[in-house]
Amino acid sequence: MATSKILLITGVSSGFGRALAQEALDAGHTVVGTVRGEAARREFESLAAQGAKDAKDTRRAVGVVLDVTDFDAIDAVVAHVESSVGPVDVLVNNAGYGHEGIMEESPLSEMRRQFDVNVFGAVAMTKAVLPFMRERRRGHILNITSMGGHITMPGIAYYCGSKFALEGISEALGKEVALFGIAVTAVAPGSFRTDWAGRSMARTPRSIADYDAVFDPIRKAREEKSGKQPGNPKKAARAMLAAIGSEKPPAHLLLGSDALGLVRGKLSAFAEEIRAWETVTVSTDG
Ligand code: NAP
Repeated sequence: MATSKILLITGVSSGFGRALAQEALDAGHTVVGTVRGEAARREFESLAAQGAKDAKDTRRAVGVVLDVTDFDAIDAVVAHVESSVGPVDVLVNNAGYGHEGIMEESPLSEMRRQFDVNVFGAVAMTKAVLPFMRERRRGHILNITSMGGHITMPGIAYYCGSKFALEGISEALGKEVALFGIAVTAVAPGSFRTDWAGRSMARTPRSIADYDAVFDPIRKAREEKSGKQPGNPKKAARAMLAAIGSEKPPAHLLLGSDALGLVRGKLSAFAEEIRAWETVTVSTDG
């Protein structure tokens, strides 16, 4: 990208957030990255020191300690970033995790936590950044959703619910802020080699034997596949930088051939179902 930007990325300790931060720093951008502890903050800031041209250059990686569910802290954190680092050109709502569990087995508290982090956290960050971007009449917000924001499978109902919610919010918000020169992109990755299915995943223990046949093979396969997924986070980061550098960023961006195949399959099955039930659908007018 030609011009240097300030990116605010949530969750830069590992996975997509870390890869995007690294690629953005390498491309000459400034990255403010949120992490959840002091050691992680120092470790993140040391990223810019690697390959820095001078002392000023090392200040292009700024770590901020923030849990995105600490809703009351977010406005002040963003205002501080704006005054101490500079105008946030790009907000990347990346922080999130996967809850895995059969819906009937999984307590509502797990669903609340899933939505607090994946949906409310992203919305709270967005609401904090928007007044600044609106005032400047420019900005770009990327929400990292998932192919699970378009397609579903048994055992991740809460996760899919949260990512469908973020897809819908992103799309509607994009229509609200386009006139102000602000773009919103929902980025939906397929399966990538991050910590998502490993240390970060919340797995509800099994309790209802009726679901063994439908769910046990899925849980086992996901555990076995962790670390061997087809997607490369570094390449995802480059794709996100391309979207950030675009004159006309997309409202939706799928990442990975698995996401492409599965989402296309879903859309054609949906079109077929709409066609099959069209007579009933239109029978309710009048
Ligand atoms: P990851 O390696 O586990 O990274 C998740 C990041 O989010 C970590 O930095 C983590 O911080 C942070 N985080 C989690 N909960 C947080 C909270 N309450 N407040 C602040 N930060 C929090 O996994 P990832 O795959 O890169 O995940 C990034 C995003 O991509 C998530 O939204 C995920 O749902 C989405 N995604 C992943 C895949 C995939 O296959 N990997 C596919 C589709 C979508 P800590 O280190 O402190 O835990």
